[in-house]
Amino acid sequence: MTQAKGYAAQSPTTDLAPWTFERREVGPHDVQFEILFCGVCHSDLHQIKNEWFPGIFPMVPGHEIVGRVTQVGSHVKKFKAGDLAGTGCLVDSCRVCDSCKEGLEQYCENGATGTYNSYEKDGKTPTYGGYSNNIVVHEDFVLHMPETLNLAATAPLLCAGITTYSPLRHWKVGKGHKLAVLGLGGLGHMAVKFGVAFGAEVTVLSTSPKKEEDAKKLGAHKFVVTSDAEQVKAVKGYFDFILDTVSAEHDFGLYLSLLKRDGTHICVGAPSEPNKIPAFSLLMGRKSVGGSGIGGLPETQEMLDFCAEHNIVSDIEMIDIKDIHAAYDRMVKGDVRYRFVIDMATL
Ligand code: NAP
Ligand code: ZN
Ligand code: ZN
Repeated sequence: MTQAKGYAAQSPTTDLAPWTFERREVGPHDVQFEILFCGVCHSDLHQIKNEWFPGIFPMVPGHEIVGRVTQVGSHVKKFKAGDLAGTGCLVDSCRVCDSCKEGLEQYCENGATGTYNSYEKDGKTPTYGGYSNNIVVHEDFVLHMPETLNLAATAPLLCAGITTYSPLRHWKVGKGHKLAVLGLGGLGHMAVKFGVAFGAEVTVLSTSPKKEEDAKKLGAHKFVVTSDAEQVKAVKGYFDFILDTVSAEHDFGLYLSLLKRDGTHICVGAPSEPNKIPAFSLLMGRKSVGGSGIGGLPETQEMLDFCAEHNIVSDIEMIDIKDIHAAYDRMVKGDVRYRFVIDMATL
């Protein structure tokens, strides 16, 4: 076993605090890497607070993990010591179901293994995430991080990046489309960057008037404050797609009214409470509501390579790990500019 240290929540009502634990020995197909940076996703907060389902405690969150390889197993072909490496939300899956065979491991029909708050395939060994100093992962679930980009700013690509890239690709959003990005946080700001890179006209729908200047800097063409009735009226029936990144309950009737006929509202945000969708908001205009979960390994590597080619990274605010709760407090208030990343040297 390898000793690891990190920050863990011992229960859903306790703060994260330093904790030591063990990682498995490096197996023949495993890659071990030193974690240099880890992004802070709103899903970390949902999970340590049991907002989705009863979690597995102690919980070490973090699934936007980047670092440098320290050791590889004897059969590992894709990595060697010293390489940059990254791991996102998944560390294993069954590899044999239809979804796995299609490279959509996130939809594994036998249940994918999450990077934390999950169990290994033995059904009893908990997984621990990236708010820690090292990790051991099967090479199939380790990504090659671009050498040419700021490493800390690439960490959020492993969740916020792929979670927005994947649905935009799946629904073929691009030139000639009007895309609304609902909520300008970690996911939202990456959605703006990808939407613009794919050639769509991008509008940010936000509750925060003060984010307008940032939205334009990120490349958005328009900005709508959703509490301003006049601004909202101006975009009724306007969008082909809404990419919804909102982390809390919100009014679907309002947002569906902004779609054109045959428009699609894509949910990637994951509020703890079920959303209410008025039937008339769908049937008047033949509208659809869909959803998308993170992304599979091949598409995640494709996204990283696309980012390297197009010089796309996340806009980050680096924090010390001891300040994680202050960062969560700001996240809940919508005050994220636009992803916190933990400098793991501060552990
Ligand atoms: P985040 O950085 O906190 O951003 C969420 C944004 O939503 C906020 O900045 C805010 O933007 C807006 N918002 C918050 N509360 C709102 C409300 N009550 N009404 C309207 N807008 C509100 O969070 P994130 O890390 O991007 O994650 C967003 C959500 O996606 C979370 O629920 C997370 O768990 C989920 N997620 C899902 C997947 C997936 O696989 N589908 C992957 C990762 C994360 P404005 O200030 O612009 O209004
Ligand atoms: Zn995430
Ligand atoms: Zn599978």
